[in-house]
Amino acid sequence: MHYDLIIVGGGLVGASLALSLRSLKWRIALIEATSARSDDPRLFGLTASSCQFLKNLNLWQQLADYATPIHQVHVSYQGCFGAIRLHHTDVHVPQLGYVIPARYIEAALHAELILKSNVDYYCKATVQALQQANLIALTVQTDVGEKLLQSPIVIAADGAESTIRKQLNIETEIIDYQQSAIVTQTFLQRSHHYIAYERLNARGAIAMLPLLDNKCATIFTADHATITQFMALSDEAFVALLQKEFGYRLGRFEKIAKRYVFPLKMVQAKENIRQGVLLLGNAAHALHPIAAQGFNLALYEVAILSDAIRSKVIAGQLFSQIDLEKAMHYTHRQRSFSIFTSHQLAQLSKYHSPLLNMCLSLGMVGLDNIKPMKEFFIHKMIGMAS
Ligand SMILES: Cc1cc2nc3c(=O)[nH]c(=O)nc-3n(C[C@H](O)[C@H](O)[C@H](O)COP(=O)(O)OP(=O)(O)OC[C@H]3O[C@@H](n4cnc5c(N)ncnc54)[C@H](O)[C@@H]3O)c2cc1C
Repeated sequence: MHYDLIIVGGGLVGASLALSLRSLKWRIALIEATSARSDDPRLFGLTASSCQFLKNLNLWQQLADYATPIHQVHVSYQGCFGAIRLHHTDVHVPQLGYVIPARYIEAALHAELILKSNVDYYCKATVQALQQANLIALTVQTDVGEKLLQSPIVIAADGAESTIRKQLNIETEIIDYQQSAIVTQTFLQRSHHYIAYERLNARGAIAMLPLLDNKCATIFTADHATITQFMALSDEAFVALLQKEFGYRLGRFEKIAKRYVFPLKMVQAKENIRQGVLLLGNAAHALHPIAAQGFNLALYEVAILSDAIRSKVIAGQLFSQIDLEKAMHYTHRQRSFSIFTSHQLAQLSKYHSPLLNMCLSLGMVGLDNIKPMKEFFIHKMIGMAS
């Protein structure tokens, strides 16, 4: 079977890319190992640019009812004075972004994909081997036996444990933060006023992102042993602990929903492109979720890549390895910023000291008051800077 493009991995990133190329006269194969999930508990903070991209994919109709706008981001460090307040009016936009449960994004992407005729969606099908010659050949195990698919370009969006990356022997840099995150929803007694809070502390961080119906998406990070201990608490005891650790900026917490645990690591591929194969999303860079950058960064890369492909196809020209390199070169600055911010925030708790507290306090007051710096930071965070 010959395709113009093969995408390995039909998770959020692979499915977004396939959908963004829907109107092209290209034959595309999307290969996904598992059937669609409906139980993903993650709650994503998405930038205004990411949401615009989802709107361009015609998904907003299906997502709008579940999307909560973020009007302000409030970052503070327990024990430090000062805080950084990033307000949507600082950069003259209606909102900085939205919080959307990942499962609705997954469902919307897959519902749209099924309708697209230029995408052959192989699901449940697993790529087992890759060979690079003039074309790239993939051996795919499906329910009805083995298939050989070929294409000049392969996009590996097959997650942090990427089979394609391993097949190519591409090395990774892995930073194990020795931390996990508890993800849940917290029910509030009053409105959150559409403020997303990030409260860093000596153990890790607590993020409280606004959800509909006076609820917050809660991400609580700490070392594995602490998280195991906190998971063993009753819901009531966990609510009391959360209230004590976070304080009363969001008023009183009433109860929480089911808790889930995610181990936290950064996995970064040392090479992103090799002979017609591009690593994308978690396959290229799985980030600590503290700065909510992982999917946002991947969507930015998907948008740049699909624009580059589209302009070549419309001009009737071949899309080559050089075009892949050019597209990824363009994304370099945003990628560096997202990786740097996620990693530095994840590291802060490790270096907790009175001196750092003072520097952080001054830094926060500075960033909060120096308008051009603040605007630059917000633009970077919400993916609006070039
Ligand atoms: C707790 C938590 C909270 C987060 N919050 C945010 C947030 O607020 N904002 C944000 O921007 N990001 C956030 N992220 C990051 C976000 O989850 C990731 O960026 C995103 O899920 C990456 O998606 P992906 O498609 O690259 O990878 P995956 O979701 O891992 O998808 C990979 C897919 O490839 C398939 N696959 C694997 N191997 C094969 C194979 N051999 N053959 C075929 N298919 C294969 C898998 O079945 C899977 O479906 C968060 C992450 C975590 C853990």
